[in-house]
Amino acid sequence: MFACLKRYWGYTQFRPWQEDTILAILDERETLTILPTGGGKSLCFQLPALLKEGMAVVISPLISLMKDQVDGLKDMGILAECLNSSQTASQQREVIKHIRDNQVKLLYISPERLQTEETMELLRSASLSFFVIDEAHCISHWGHDFRDEYRQLGTIKDNFPGINIHAFTATATKEVQEDILAQLRFVHPRINIASVDRPNLAYRVMPRQSIIPQLTEVLEKHAKEAGIIYCLRRKDVDDISKKLNKLGYKNLPYHAGLTDEERHVNQERFIREEVNIIVATVAFGMGIDRSDIRFVIHAAMPKSIEHYHQETGRAGRDSLPSYCYMFYGGGDFRVWEFFSKKSANYQVMMDKLRIMYNFCTQPQCRHKVFVNYFNQEYQQTSCQACDYCLGEVDMVDDPLELGQKILNCVSSVRYGDDQGFGAGYLANVLKGNSTDQITRWGHQHNPNFAVMSGQTLIFIRYLIEQLIGQGFLERQGEYDTLAMTDLGQKLLNGKVTPILAKPLVAEKKKAITARQKAKKAQDFAGVDEELFELLRAKRSELARKHGVPAYIIFGDKSLKDMASRKPTTRLAFSEVFGVGDHKLKIYADHFISVIKQYGK
Ligand code: ADP
Repeated sequence: MFACLKRYWGYTQFRPWQEDTILAILDERETLTILPTGGGKSLCFQLPALLKEGMAVVISPLISLMKDQVDGLKDMGILAECLNSSQTASQQREVIKHIRDNQVKLLYISPERLQTEETMELLRSASLSFFVIDEAHCISHWGHDFRDEYRQLGTIKDNFPGINIHAFTATATKEVQEDILAQLRFVHPRINIASVDRPNLAYRVMPRQSIIPQLTEVLEKHAKEAGIIYCLRRKDVDDISKKLNKLGYKNLPYHAGLTDEERHVNQERFIREEVNIIVATVAFGMGIDRSDIRFVIHAAMPKSIEHYHQETGRAGRDSLPSYCYMFYGGGDFRVWEFFSKKSANYQVMMDKLRIMYNFCTQPQCRHKVFVNYFNQEYQQTSCQACDYCLGEVDMVDDPLELGQKILNCVSSVRYGDDQGFGAGYLANVLKGNSTDQITRWGHQHNPNFAVMSGQTLIFIRYLIEQLIGQGFLERQGEYDTLAMTDLGQKLLNGKVTPILAKPLVAEKKKAITARQKAKKAQDFAGVDEELFELLRAKRSELARKHGVPAYIIFGDKSLKDMASRKPTTRLAFSEVFGVGDHKLKIYADHFISVIKQYGK
């Protein structure tokens, strides 16, 4: 097993749960394996497919990804093929011939394809090792990408009695798991569930002020690196994409309003590393296997923790340190609420939205929230990879008192038939600004007027937003007036305390930026960065020549290892992370010559 791992993949160790799943597969036990994105699911079935007699059939939902996966396997010297509608008739005939000649160890097909009589016939006549259902959550209505064609997969057991099925997904909710087990009719399966935590991702969540400068500040930290900027609406995508391009941050837009052709071209250019930044709606992402995505920025709040987890999960598949930033605003909540109104699932969506908003506005360990959200336990006391645990968030000293001041104001500043006011108005009352509107309503005489005169208006607004997010206040009606909730009443009575952060001041911001820079330098400790860039350029050149995405040739982790070991012989090159026998044969000389040249 380890020999095979080194020979084909050039790896020396298994990631958590991989060995366990592989052993179960070899032991003829059916398996359901849940690993987060980047956890290394593919290897769990690819390796036993090599060790077992016959051909493994991998059902995969995305035709666009199949080719890349198969190309990747071939690049490691593994006999892999796919059958799908994007191939010409003669290409398909060729693949079928290989299958009949027992020249295929892994066959990738779509679920539709499996249903055809022709394919059934072909597979029945072949010697099969096992079936793999990749992205198995597509089988469940509870999953976020339910696919009708996946429902038919239960019939595999009828058509191929005695052949084991192994399911893989990154979706960890209980309903989805149970659905997968029932639909595929597993008997005594081995179930391996990894932690949903992605320790290599650092999360930072900040209120949105002026989005373009906030974005460029992040982009400056990640010059030359690849990343995705997620926006809420198509017009935000167009707007932000244009502005950033004008400022010299080369990027491409992606959303459902573009033509199929435009979308395809932009996605391909991102995958092929011709452009490093994509500005997109959530329509972008399924089928993006680029492993060196170093940052994901949310220019607005996502609609649920599941979505946030999935979207940020696209960063750092290669397990190198990667960075997630979110800039949220209270308005995002209203936009999602508006979108949800049309849905039959309104209540469920609103609950998820509230939890999401709470995540944004309540300072706490981000990793812990994710892990707990998916009903797992977080063992560490500090993740050292989020704004909260890194001490970037300053907490107020007197949260209860401040919270009570604001709630008192909300419940006392009313008009007419007990109507409330919006956050902006109330902040001005608390600050003690005698605006025209305030004098018109006479609230300059309210006892709550100017009770927070020592604070800035921004600070007061920020506190109000946090109280809303944490459920002490809620926005109501078409004017977004504020009202106290039952939980708010408890706060007034001193029975609960809110968790309130101060907004970042310039000085603190500078210190954080300096620390982040130091951390980025640490990410490259021992790596010759200049050489790394040269190796990257060589990788791109080879990728173009072979017509494959660059990450298929080598991941950044391998290039970093090369740029620190600087091997100049084949023997030394074979020690590099991710160099198996086949890659050694076809790529060693190309990269060694870059290293030698650089050495001179
Ligand atoms: P998933 O499908 O779970 O998102 P992948 O199968 O695409 O993850 O694997 C993510 C990356 O991790 C790939 O580049 C893969 O080669 C790498 N990887 C997988 N297993 C190992 C391992 N044991 N050691 C080092 N790298 C690994």
